[in-house]
Amino acid sequence: MIAAASPDAQALAVLKSVWGYDQFRGVQGEIVRAATQGENALVLMPTGGGKSLCYQLPSLLRPGVGVVVSPLIALMKDQVDALRLSGVRAAYLNSTLSLQGVREVEAALVAGELDLLYVAPERLLTARMLELLEQADIALFAVDEAHCVSQWGHDFRPEYQGLGVLPARFPGIPRLALTATADERTRADIVRVLELENAQLFVSSFDRPNIQYRIQQKGAGKAGPKSELLDFIRAEHPGEAGIVYCLSRRSVEETAEWLGAQGLTALPYHAGLPVRERDSAQERFIREEGVIVVATVAFGMGIDKPNVRFVAHLDLPKSMEGYYQETGRAGRDSLPSTAWMTYGLADVVNVRRMLAQSEAPENVKRVEAAKLDALLAYCETASCRRQVLLNYFGENLPQPCGNCDTCLNPPQTFDATRPAQMALSAAIRTGNRFGAAHLTDVLLGNATERIRGLGHHQLPTFGVGKAVPERSWRNIVRQLVALGYLTTDAAGHGSLIASAKARPLLRGEETLWLREDMLTPQTAKKNRRDRSVAPAGAAGGLFEALRALRLKLSREQEVPPYVIFHDATLREMAERRPDSLAVLGSIAGVGTRKLAQYGEVFLEVLRGDVAPAEAAGTRKNDALLSILNRRAESEAGPSAGLPEGRLFGGSGMLASHPDVADRLRAVRQQLAKVKGVSAFLIFPNATLDLLAERQPQSVNGLRGLPGLGEKRIEAYGEQIIAAIRSADHP
Ligand code: ADP
Ligand code: ZN
Repeated sequence: MIAAASPDAQALAVLKSVWGYDQFRGVQGEIVRAATQGENALVLMPTGGGKSLCYQLPSLLRPGVGVVVSPLIALMKDQVDALRLSGVRAAYLNSTLSLQGVREVEAALVAGELDLLYVAPERLLTARMLELLEQADIALFAVDEAHCVSQWGHDFRPEYQGLGVLPARFPGIPRLALTATADERTRADIVRVLELENAQLFVSSFDRPNIQYRIQQKGAGKAGPKSELLDFIRAEHPGEAGIVYCLSRRSVEETAEWLGAQGLTALPYHAGLPVRERDSAQERFIREEGVIVVATVAFGMGIDKPNVRFVAHLDLPKSMEGYYQETGRAGRDSLPSTAWMTYGLADVVNVRRMLAQSEAPENVKRVEAAKLDALLAYCETASCRRQVLLNYFGENLPQPCGNCDTCLNPPQTFDATRPAQMALSAAIRTGNRFGAAHLTDVLLGNATERIRGLGHHQLPTFGVGKAVPERSWRNIVRQLVALGYLTTDAAGHGSLIASAKARPLLRGEETLWLREDMLTPQTAKKNRRDRSVAPAGAAGGLFEALRALRLKLSREQEVPPYVIFHDATLREMAERRPDSLAVLGSIAGVGTRKLAQYGEVFLEVLRGDVAPAEAAGTRKNDALLSILNRRAESEAGPSAGLPEGRLFGGSGMLASHPDVADRLRAVRQQLAKVKGVSAFLIFPNATLDLLAERQPQSVNGLRGLPGLGEKRIEAYGEQIIAAIRSADHP
């Protein structure tokens, strides 16, 4: 019986009915349990780890509204839209709302008609808001992006420090702080400001197993790195969304234009572009399929598009932290994704030079130098990249991952002691004043005019490296710079200077192993098949048809496509081809409400009743889409901050059967009271909508309705039918 269900079973039931998921991911379950029981918690989880569920679900299970503090105003609308499509009574309060909109949400808050409320921190801290909250029943406070309280972090927001009012004014209400930034100092700041000294700490692994890390050396493509990038996208992610990072605004623009000329949808994004152009790029990236944004690092913060399939770096990121954060924007939906980077000698010399020229104080420079060393060592490693990456963040991965370039295609290493000595002495003998090209000429014995002009053809090192091909010299010199045996000058001439670290090597007291150059790694094609998001064969065509339907629906409802269903959900649909609502409802990501709302239209495509190209465009579908349109009409009423439908019971579908719906709601309320559980658990709003629409006249007619299993039918069936009938015959 429901009433006897354990709290965990309740949580799982709601997880299934609202989100359509069968199980928790990692520590989610424990966090949900703690928060539901009213405990405080500090949650450290990587991007895409599934933080939102950790506060959304307990907000549904506890009485009152979950108040979510988030600095990312641009995200709130999409998050709230997604929740509403799943049947959750969510709203937001931020500066984008009209005064009227604000008043409506405030009224709903005080009337206890919200499950979740997203607020910007500056608004939360106003006297008015705090007073309203004191009148409301609050389930919990969730502080998202909690690292914003810390001055140490990169996203410091002074308003966040004001959040200390929460423990002071609402001492009994559980507080959850969530962040993907895990370092000690930031953590300590969060604990101090939010008074989480006694909170449970939940740390999940920062590994992102679905991201394949790959780095290749520049030099393969004829047209340079851009063409390597194009090859990569065409071979592995055609038609898929991705982000390409470049260092300079100019290269952002050039790359976007060039990719566009090759037939890809690529949009530039950097701080120098007009706001309107930037907003439009971001909007298209979120709302369309397969858009590539070429950007400086300004892009990506606050975008939680789950199906970014690749993140490419055409220039070195600033640090390991930056690399992890930027690549982390790929594959939030857990499907195979790629973090791809191409770099070469010039990049390495460049970053070393920028460091040398830095005018920061000595202690800051030391930290910067250490960070750069770590990044370059990561780039040059011959062992598992994921191990190096996680190790940098203090996590130990015992086995090589099998999903990075060095695991898939282990690089050869060779004893480079002798050639390294040659290169270092070439630098020393030429006065530590020349760059890589000149040193290579000396080593190869190229008696160019410049060499002869300088008399370098008479040096003992001249021509000692003839046996080694030029390409290999570039590889060796790059690694010597990356590993710090060679440094650069502060003057910015690009001179390479043998460092103190080189001495033991020159004296023969140290052996140096370097990796062979790999210009065209073969990892890609080998594992392309099982890494593709679109399923193989006939299911692939079906997947595309489902995608087309999703896009059409998303345009009509003005939400991003992934808010309707995730790629993983469409893929499972295409593979399993459900032909009934019941089977469709068992697919991960299909919650009760979405099943009620979209089930039929998707089934049509799945049954092959409509040709892929005309998915959702036929007369037949028009009838089905009218359900959606009816809903859209009723949404046109209230303001953007509020859930649809007059304070709400559910969707706009209710409009045509208000009487039945009211009676059903009353019965549910009564049952909930008797059983001592929240109404949600008797049956969800989506089921209520369906019941109101179909008005089954017998207990038997309840079978197969999503949200009503055998047990529930047995427990509540009679009362449900009685309610429907009494509405029919008042
Ligand atoms: P974060 O906020 O930590 O970056 P999200 O909360 O956005 O992550 O979740 C990332 C993705 O993982 C979302 O698309 C979400 O739907 C999915 N997800 C979360 N929890 C689960 C789960 N238990 N089962 C399947 N998918 C999940
Ligand atoms: Zn690996």
